[in-house]
Amino acid sequence: MSVINLPYAARAARLTGSVIDSSTSLLAAQTHDIVRFAMGSPSDEAVPLEVLRDIAASQLDHSSFTYGATEGEPALLEQLVSYLATLSEPTSLDRITITAGGMQGLDLACKIFVDPDDLVIIEGPTYTNGSATAASYGADLLEAPVDENGLIVEALPDLVRGTGKTPKAIYVIPNFQNPSGTTLSAGRREHLLELAHQWNAVIIDDDPYGLLRFAGEDLPSFQSLSPADPLLFSVRTFSKILSPGLRVGWVDTDPSIRQLVINAKQSMDTCTNVPAQHMVAEFIRRGGLSDHLTMIRSQYLERKIAMTDSLQRHLGDRVTMTDPDGGFFLWVTLQGEDRLTSTSALFETALAEGVAFIPGPAFSSTSRYDDSLRLCFASTSPDRIEEGVKRLTRALDLARML
Ligand code: PMP
Repeated sequence: MSVINLPYAARAARLTGSVIDSSTSLLAAQTHDIVRFAMGSPSDEAVPLEVLRDIAASQLDHSSFTYGATEGEPALLEQLVSYLATLSEPTSLDRITITAGGMQGLDLACKIFVDPDDLVIIEGPTYTNGSATAASYGADLLEAPVDENGLIVEALPDLVRGTGKTPKAIYVIPNFQNPSGTTLSAGRREHLLELAHQWNAVIIDDDPYGLLRFAGEDLPSFQSLSPADPLLFSVRTFSKILSPGLRVGWVDTDPSIRQLVINAKQSMDTCTNVPAQHMVAEFIRRGGLSDHLTMIRSQYLERKIAMTDSLQRHLGDRVTMTDPDGGFFLWVTLQGEDRLTSTSALFETALAEGVAFIPGPAFSSTSRYDDSLRLCFASTSPDRIEEGVKRLTRALDLARML
């Protein structure tokens, strides 16, 4: 049966699929022993299974199995707002909409702000599932470089001038960026806000990792630098701090656009999974979230140290790597003779050796960074990290011999 003549929307051609997700599905099909540095998922130990089971058994009732309000379950909205009040990012009920994870928040932002051919600034490298969302709405993507202090905001005016357009949106991951692990400096946050106002562009502030700081001091959030700013669209998720499978996140927007967010979400899913929202609400109500965060932060610090130590011991100056103060990821760049190795090609060899990572080009809308790769330290125990780095070293040695 031919599918060539189906009456596709122009947008269908832009739904190209996620390279990050296809690498992880390829991995799921492997049956041999693999140290998995590829997926950005919390470790099994970092999901409070017993408490969640107990909540599911004791707290869910009929109200959990019917339609809920599009903006979110009142119990979760209230718990979330009071939890956030204890942090440096206080908010209010008229700003929050519960979503199906961070991805739905990104989709909502783009659905509301991005038309075909609109210029959207993205980071290079970036979380391409996010930039692909903007592309799916027809955005013209401008990939702007990142250094050890995050997006190089000073470079934006010239880059933008070169396009002849004014940006409509800036997609930025300010803390422990995926994939580079870098954090946007305070000065650059202020500068980005100024530029956003100059251009009348929305900042899509995607911050799944900000609560996972395990070293250093928190930097001021965009919201604290520019309170009640309608150009700020903050996307948050429980995926990295509690469980990605629950599919619960939230967006924090100016009250003046919240109804639009709710309207846009209504045509997507009517409401977010109700039992999952009740479970998260009860987890916060029991006071579990702050203890849980304390526990996983120290676990991730230990794992980050294990990974940077192992990489230094086994690969030394054959690589450079970022040194994040939080989050899940290290960005490793090949040096010297190893630069001749393509990390995309290395993926196959590494898989055969029993270690998986995501090659650099998966994080670029223009297939750059073939000399780099992303390693997730969060989901692997320190002894397995050492084994994985040994295997990665063997794969690099083999690639050099080819
Ligand atoms: N943004 C970033 C930067 C991410 O790393 C991720 C998850 N990998 C998401 C958004 C998506 O989050 P969720 O799984 O909650 O949809």
